[in-house]
Amino acid sequence: MADCEEPRAGFCVAVHEIAHKLDALDGLLDGTPPLPGPWQRGWARDFQAAYDALVADVDAGRETAIDGYAAEAPEEFFAVASEYHFSDPQALRSAMPKVAAHLEKFYGPSPFTDA
Ligand SMILES: [Zn+2]
Repeated sequence: MADCEEPRAGFCVAVHEIAHKLDALDGLLDGTPPLPGPWQRGWARDFQAAYDALVADVDAGRETAIDGYAAEAPEEFFAVASEYHFSDPQALRSAMPKVAAHLEKFYGPSPFTDA
């Protein structure tokens, strides 16, 4: 899988596309995959807050903690955050701890968590 040759770089197209597929399982590509009710509400709240903060950074021309492409749309934010979960979880955890916690619960621990 050529896109994963540098898995620590924070980018992995395969993970990105899988995240979009998981997101769309409930019929809506909106950055929130199907989850049990209370978790889905918490997910939506925490992802929205982190997304809004990222968009504000991009709009202000500030350097962003994760790839600024994530600010394109909520579904891209979920997909890009998923890439970081699998490839650079420390960066995600320090930049967006609540988002990182949701993704750890959703996907399981990142393979690089203890690296
Ligand atoms: Zn995408």
